[in-house]
Amino acid sequence: WEADPTCANCSLDTHYALGRRLGKGAFSQVYECTCRDTGRKFAVKMVDTRRLRTADIVSLRREVALTSCIEHPGVCAVFDLFHDASGCTALVQELASAGDLFDRIQKRTCFMEAPAAAVMARLLETVAHVHTAGIVHRDIKPENILCVSDSDDTDLKLTDFGFAKRVADLTTCDEACGTPQYVAPEIILGQPYGTQVDVWSLGVVAYALLGGYAPFHAASVQTLFRSIVRADYCFHAKFWAHVSVEAKHFIRCMLQPDPAQRWTAAALLHHPWIAVHAAAPAALL
Ligand code: ADP
Ligand code: MG
Repeated sequence: WEADPTCANCSLDTHYALGRRLGKGAFSQVYECTCRDTGRKFAVKMVDTRRLRTADIVSLRREVALTSCIEHPGVCAVFDLFHDASGCTALVQELASAGDLFDRIQKRTCFMEAPAAAVMARLLETVAHVHTAGIVHRDIKPENILCVSDSDDTDLKLTDFGFAKRVADLTTCDEACGTPQYVAPEIILGQPYGTQVDVWSLGVVAYALLGGYAPFHAASVQTLFRSIVRADYCFHAKFWAHVSVEAKHFIRCMLQPDPAQRWTAAALLHHPWIAVHAAAPAALL
């Protein structure tokens, strides 16, 4: 559907001037906007809540509530929220208009180790912060990681907290969620789970950064899930022969099917592969 960009304008328009469309989500249109007072640019996500099912309204409320209680440079901050009488909600967020990590991987084919380690360090630091705040994102994938700058691959913002939840609110019969290629084995198996599901998804991101393709793919979702549960992936010699032993060990620590054995985001920040590259001079990255 095409949301009417003027529908939430009555109050939004007083403070912000609407610009070009940046993107489109399942239930939203995202536009650039400029604060009339300061001239600063933002992104505004417009959602026509009349078209949403109850579950989607719950997810939007969660997104607003959880994003606004996380303050971290790696998370797209929420600045303003407008509702109008017709049921439109406008969520004013930090702007990250240099595309997403998915496009960047496709453009580069794959990343060299030093820049990949810098990207992973930024993501791990962000996710460790989210976990410390008692929140699990549950839909980490390159499409939900936005780039701020064309020149700096590490200036990234984690976005789309529509599936996020407080860890304390997770129940054993919680809905299965996430995106099939990135979903953790414990979610597929219907087991109780926690923040470690995000580390699994980050492992899939790390593999894609260094290899240029996803570790798990299959013609059907059933076959895909079977290979995820068995952690049935490998480092094909054709693409991985020149990748260091430390980088492969780093990925194995994340793509560990037993969540209790899987390293935490905070521990992975001290993994030798991250530590070695973090110590390298910035000019070499
Ligand atoms: P949905 O929750 O409906 O999937 P998203 O939050 O993923 O919506 O946003 C949809 C698209 O809008 C994104 O893929 C991206 O292209 C663009 N977008 C979202 N947030 C921003 C932002 N803060 N800055 C720039 N573009 C954004
Ligand atoms: Mg999205």
